[in-house]
Amino acid sequence: MQNYSTDILIIGSGPAGLSAAIYAARSGKKTLVLEGARAASRLSLGYELENYPGFISINSNDLLARFRDQARNFGAEFVKGDTLALSLTMSHKYVSTTDSFIEARAVVLATGKPFAKNRQIPGEERLLGYGVSYCAVCDGPLYKGRDVAAYGHTPEAVEDVWILHQTGVRVHWIPGKPKDPAALEKDLTKAEKFGIPVYGDAEIKEIAGDKNVERVVLNTSAGEQSLDAAACFIFREVPTGPLFEKSGLVMDHKQCLAIDRFQRTNLEGVFAAGDVTCGGLQVVSAAGEGCVAALQALAYLRK
Ligand SMILES: Cc1cc2nc3c(=O)[nH]c(=O)nc-3n(C[C@H](O)[C@H](O)[C@H](O)COP(=O)(O)OP(=O)(O)OC[C@H]3O[C@@H](n4cnc5c(N)ncnc54)[C@H](O)[C@@H]3O)c2cc1C
Repeated sequence: MQNYSTDILIIGSGPAGLSAAIYAARSGKKTLVLEGARAASRLSLGYELENYPGFISINSNDLLARFRDQARNFGAEFVKGDTLALSLTMSHKYVSTTDSFIEARAVVLATGKPFAKNRQIPGEERLLGYGVSYCAVCDGPLYKGRDVAAYGHTPEAVEDVWILHQTGVRVHWIPGKPKDPAALEKDLTKAEKFGIPVYGDAEIKEIAGDKNVERVVLNTSAGEQSLDAAACFIFREVPTGPLFEKSGLVMDHKQCLAIDRFQRTNLEGVFAAGDVTCGGLQVVSAAGEGCVAALQALAYLRK
């Protein structure tokens, strides 16, 4: 795990986060941008953008690269990782990610459109921290010698399954449904060779347990199956909503971060910009909100 200390931490590297980074770094403040590893900016989908001022048409990936280069040119630093926990109520803010601990004096949250509640697995939110985990490196050693379920199929998820296995955890792998099953074939075969049970046709219906995870219920082509497990590791996008709520941030009725017209959240020194606020839901509005959030963060640091 790496430790970082910065003036302004910007979580998210889409147009909102990068625009905030341009303003923060250009002002001379130490600026760190946390780039999510599992969830990418919506701009990276590579769609054609015809409504960003100054360009008749531009590929969204190209625009993203320009934002990034500009932020980097002004001295913003970038680090990869997914936010797992936030401590935001004191004057110094602390953020734990899958790979690092970060201390900051002000934080801009720019994590994009919230992960829809109905895409969460039943039991996931209730048992988060009680056997539900998003981080193999952080929590894997707690389950050495015990049976756990692991869910996910992206290359990063496969890597995390191996980390659990190498930590001595008895991992049961539920890959879910990848877009390209052929691409996963080699990993599935390798897992089976190393004695990792794979539940290829299953989806997790529920994560169950009283106070802690005790089992996962699977939907398979042969019907429902119960799998005893002391933990359930979920290796896909981390739903930020529950993390924000746990850290004392106020959400609105759409599960978006509640802000005032200066992009201030209810917590001192914490600002939010872009789709995470369900604002304009456009690149230009995300960039504009990022600018305001950074200017407000700079004003907060001057106090
Ligand atoms: C198919 C499609 C077409 C679109 N077309 C247009 C269009 O034509 N014009 C237009 O203006 N807009 C369009 N949009 C909308 C536009 O892409 C978004 O409004 C914009 O990308 C929002 O920017 P953002 O910075 O708020 O979030 P995003 O661009 O989504 O970036 C979010 C960032 O947060 C990071 N992140 C997420 N979770 C975590 C975490 N736990 N820890 C750390 N980092 C995290 C991600 O890695 C990412 O870097 C389109 C969107 C889609 C999906």
